[in-house]
Amino acid sequence: MSNEPSDSKGFETRAIHSGRDFVGDTRTVTPPVWLTSTFEYGNPNGFDYTRSGNPNFRLLDRTIASLEGAAHATSFGSGVSAITAIVSTLKSGDVILAEENIYGCTFRLFAQVFAKFGVEVSYVDFTDHSSLEKVAGHAPAVVWIESPTNPNLKIIDIAAVADAAHAAGAALVVDNTFASSYLQRPIELGADLSLISLTKYTNGHSDALVGSVCTNSDDWQEKLIFAQKALGLQPSPMDCWLTLRGAKTEAIRMERHCSNALAFATFLEDETNAVTVRYPFLASHPQHELAKRQMAGGSGIVTVDFGRSLEDTMKVVENLTLFPKAESLGGIESLVCHPASMTHAAVPKETREAVGITDSLVRFSIGIETVEDLIGDVREALQA
Ligand SMILES: *Cc1c(COP(=O)(O)O)cnc(C)c1O
Repeated sequence: MSNEPSDSKGFETRAIHSGRDFVGDTRTVTPPVWLTSTFEYGNPNGFDYTRSGNPNFRLLDRTIASLEGAAHATSFGSGVSAITAIVSTLKSGDVILAEENIYGCTFRLFAQVFAKFGVEVSYVDFTDHSSLEKVAGHAPAVVWIESPTNPNLKIIDIAAVADAAHAAGAALVVDNTFASSYLQRPIELGADLSLISLTKYTNGHSDALVGSVCTNSDDWQEKLIFAQKALGLQPSPMDCWLTLRGAKTEAIRMERHCSNALAFATFLEDETNAVTVRYPFLASHPQHELAKRQMAGGSGIVTVDFGRSLEDTMKVVENLTLFPKAESLGGIESLVCHPASMTHAAVPKETREAVGITDSLVRFSIGIETVEDLIGDVREALQA
């Protein structure tokens, strides 16, 4: 039976109901954006209201789950919404055991929001092997790591932490944002949840915010779907559409991010008098062997300590012409960030310095431009 309004229906009725039969039947090559807040009751795909599901979410979720090698993926309005969804499943008195060099906004969310609800957080250095033996002693509900970490690019042994977490009866959450699904698959390494800010490498064009959580566990999946709907953490259909388009070119972008970043890091190490250059695929990286085992490439972030004063460090950053000073990472365009005054400004100075985020540290997100131009730009900024 047709739902199309006949010509005898009123102007307003035709304006509102025309096209209803056409939408599902177009064989469109690129999916449309389903900008609808609600769905007609009884539809075969079980959609009801966009806060709890939308065809653009579903298309993105299927792709991300597949790319991460997971049974399920759930999209959220941002990476921070995805973090919120996971932590909202905990209760007062539960303990999160977290890597100490964690993303600044994750730290802020734990300290300034969830602490008020009684969720406790302890921090350890997971590159120190004795930390693994101490996991059970913290009696954590959840162990929370990132690898590579931001901005120090520490590499953490995901499989070893997964074993320690499971022996302690805890679930392991891995923030996979810095590596991307193309280079690292935490679920295959034993993580229970892999969290990705798709805003970064997956979308790759710095024009949308979406987060995702992947899992093989039906129990976790049910909790995440509940959090999406009950807490209002859903993404927008438009942002999911953009992110899915980005995901289609993730592989070739990541290849170029990796080759550009390796060349850039090699230049910094060999041709400048930087004190430290951090890049997981440089032989000088403290966890280089682990990085090569766990990741298919070093990704696009290079962190350098130029060993200059705060003032001189800021001057170098300001002298760059091809690196806008901005937060975020993973886009096709290169960016530069001064963590102490930008991404980690929310972390107290003592805590920051204790984990190696000094005033002279600079983080480069290497884009997919011509790498000789990027290197030339830094060379000139250092000489100025
Ligand atoms: C950016 C980022 C997030 C948060 O993602 P948003 O999409 O910005 O909310 C979480 N973790 C890491 C490691 C990030 O870089």
